[in-house]
Amino acid sequence: MEYAILTKDLTKYYGRLLAVDHVNLRVPFNTIYGFLGPNGAGKTTTIRMLCGLTNVSSGDAMVNGYSVRKEAEKVKASIGVVQDISNLYPELTCFDNLMFCAEMHGVPKRLRKERVLELLAFFGLEDRKNEKFANLSKGLKRRLTIAAALVHKPKILLLDEPTLGLDVKSRRKMWKLIQALKEEGLTIFLTSHNVYEVSRLSERVAVINKGRIVAEGSLQS
Ligand code: ATP
Repeated sequence: MEYAILTKDLTKYYGRLLAVDHVNLRVPFNTIYGFLGPNGAGKTTTIRMLCGLTNVSSGDAMVNGYSVRKEAEKVKASIGVVQDISNLYPELTCFDNLMFCAEMHGVPKRLRKERVLELLAFFGLEDRKNEKFANLSKGLKRRLTIAAALVHKPKILLLDEPTLGLDVKSRRKMWKLIQALKEEGLTIFLTSHNVYEVSRLSERVAVINKGRIVAEGSLQS
């Protein structure tokens, strides 16, 4: 079976600090996979290596069948990534932000508007279409940031702490959206330090501590 993400002794040093230590993960396609660990465990560093934002020190990762070391461009086309800081423009409207991202991701011009409207509808942001990003609540900003990561229809979505700082209502809505994305066929790799969140959402989970995987398995009987 081919995996959406398959890491082979994935390792990252920052100088002398071993941040990610020979991590081996197998993430099947079309699952929600939880990556759980305390602050400083190595979750963000792992995501950054998976999407080519930081170099791998040793080992490798295959993402959608492509090596992050050798086929970075193909990896980038296969994934959407959302980190804690949004890359959207505060002064642009929701619609314009998504149109701009679609252009940046090479979505053909004739398909852009339809894709953007589809995403706004999926994320419940149709009525905010002409609102500036800066004026959205935190929960809606997070939703639009995820929508922006999906403009090019990636197969795999990497979410770094998607509900961090959200209130209970926004968090519940985010969980529903993540589940709906899975039902649309996406593979979702999400980091969290919240055990409840991961156990509620994920079918499989890996636990990382001090750069090492300390547990891995299915959560459903
Ligand atoms: P958090 O939830 O706090 O973001 P995390 O599990 O995502 O934690 P990382 O951010 O990957 O953990 O950090 C792993 C280790 O690497 C930590 O000890 C951190 O201080 C260190 N680290 C992270 N980024 C850098 C960097 N750019 N330069 C040096 N050290 C770093």
